[in-house]
Amino acid sequence: MNKIHCLVWNEFVHEKSDANVARLYPNGIHGAIAQALEEDERFEVRTATLDSPEQGLDEATLAWADVVLWWGHTAHNLVKDEYVERLHRAITQRGVGLIPLHSGHMSKIFMRLMGTSCDLKWREIGESERIWVVEPSHPIVAGVPETFVLPHEEMYGERFDIPAPDEIILLSWFQGGNVFRSGCTWKRGAGRIFYFRPGHESLPSYYQSEVRQILRNGAAWAARQPGIPSTPYGHQPQPLEKVFPNKEES
Ligand code: ZN
Repeated sequence: MNKIHCLVWNEFVHEKSDANVARLYPNGIHGAIAQALEEDERFEVRTATLDSPEQGLDEATLAWADVVLWWGHTAHNLVKDEYVERLHRAITQRGVGLIPLHSGHMSKIFMRLMGTSCDLKWREIGESERIWVVEPSHPIVAGVPETFVLPHEEMYGERFDIPAPDEIILLSWFQGGNVFRSGCTWKRGAGRIFYFRPGHESLPSYYQSEVRQILRNGAAWAARQPGIPSTPYGHQPQPLEKVFPNKEES
């Protein structure tokens, strides 16, 4: 069986500038996410960062990828527009999936695909987050309990300025009273998009089993589906039936 090709993209900035983040994610946030995916034999996993050639978004890598998991926060603006454009084409025309994670809500690619500000409320006081599965039949939450708690997370609160999702799969409640749509899906062209909220850089959420299960399920769901043509359909086709000229015009 062909493996699902997962590209884990991380800006990889906090890990190099903050000792606490480096201690928590010694192989980078991308390393922890890749490790979660590698627990599933269906996946072949590569990682890329801002430091990679062409920022990890070269044509060959995007041609290889079936799904891109995206973690960014402090360096969104350093991602070059031409590479964002390339990724946008891969998603919308070739059906490569995208999973923006946590602060990836403000990434250039997600904002471009959504067309809204993607803004939200946030607060960083280490409060707990309770996540509820609200679409239990969805493959993204297969094997995930109805509700689970992240002991400490950064709060993200509504309003989350996104277009109405096709599906809302996860809802969060925070100790401080805010709520948030934490797992949402959209289609854009041929591509599937799954936004997944947890994963603040200074907190260990990417080591928690429920989060890792959702990362694996999400990658399998968002991945490029078989049968999507790898080139556009083309313009100005010949008619398929004999077409009679309009008599009134002749
Ligand atoms: Zn954060």
